Amino acid sequence: MKYVDEYRDGALARDIAGRIREEVLPQKQYHFMEFCGGHTHAIFRYGIPDLLPDNLKMIHGPGCPVCVLPISRLDAAIELAVSHDVILCSYGDMLRVPGSRKRSLLKVKAEGADVRMVYSCMDALRIAAENPQREVVFFAIGFETTTPPTALVIRQARAQGLKNFSVYCNHLLTPAAISNILESPEVRDLGILPLDGFVGPAHVSTVIGSQPYHYFAEEYQKPVVIAGFEPLDMLQAILMLVRQVNQGRAEVENEFSRAVTFQGNLRARAVVADTFELRRSFEWRGLGEVPYSALRIKQEFAEFDAEKRFTVEYRSARENKACECGAILRGVKSPRDCSLFADPCTPENPLGSCMVSSEGACAAYYSYGRYRERTFATDRSHGATVKESAI
Ligand code: SF4
Repeated sequence: MKYVDEYRDGALARDIAGRIREEVLPQKQYHFMEFCGGHTHAIFRYGIPDLLPDNLKMIHGPGCPVCVLPISRLDAAIELAVSHDVILCSYGDMLRVPGSRKRSLLKVKAEGADVRMVYSCMDALRIAAENPQREVVFFAIGFETTTPPTALVIRQARAQGLKNFSVYCNHLLTPAAISNILESPEVRDLGILPLDGFVGPAHVSTVIGSQPYHYFAEEYQKPVVIAGFEPLDMLQAILMLVRQVNQGRAEVENEFSRAVTFQGNLRARAVVADTFELRRSFEWRGLGEVPYSALRIKQEFAEFDAEKRFTVEYRSARENKACECGAILRGVKSPRDCSLFADPCTPENPLGSCMVSSEGACAAYYSYGRYRERTFATDRSHGATVKESAI
């Protein structure tokens, strides 16, 4: 498989892993966060923890868009489907996330609501064109990667003169969340996790480029290495982070240069800037309110904004108290710290968002790490300084 096998070369992987072990200083602890859920899955799928020295830990971050959406926004989508009788279109993972009172989009679909799974926002647009007598709402989630297609679909709806299509916009911004992990007051409640550097997201960076991370690296003095999803990408990025830490550098380096440039995709960024504007604040599951961390639809496109088109109440929502998704998304706990992990919470019976999504940390641990002897950075017995009150 051209362009894939090269990045899964076992001999090369062993060589890079050997260099990591040689260059890691024995007296030092290294904690690196992979922000992106795709990286968490790659790390486990390829057995990378087994190749790393004991004093180098990888910590999962909040980079799963399904996981970080707060329950109140999901409840609002459920209300749109149930009370406003719209055709609600969303991606498959989102349908299975438990909302408050154990409701989910899948459950209300079973009760008769018109909820449809789509593979892209264009599918939702097609459904709107085919059902002119019904209101169709696209439940838009995701980071900078999925935002440009949503912008384009709004523009296409206007070009087609569709009057029954709108978007419930929940698009999020990555750099704001990375900053929040380091500086928000919630850190004081949940515990402090030492972080020495970040593996920067792959897909997100193809759109926004490496440019936005430079401010972050300078301001917080944390190295960032943008990496692809293949095993050699991950190992190479970890080696680059080790070298930066050892040399006292805090820079942005781009391991994924075959796809990511300094400026990113200028056309995609332009269409996003023309269609969306910043929200002053947005609630993230696990991170709380994060300033300027999400987008909403510009007034110019208000007729396609479901939040303006429908009156949706945001009621305070109750999370499952035993579910640790919040702490896991912040990186201060591991899925294996959760008393519900694997029994009864499984991908078939998810009790929290982190077990639902194909990018969720609990799903990654369940699929690849639940029988491992080795502890991980945030397993209670290791690494994180977690306050007892937060356990
Ligand atoms: S194992 Fe299930 S209940 Fe526990 S934190 Fe993960 S998703 Fe939540």
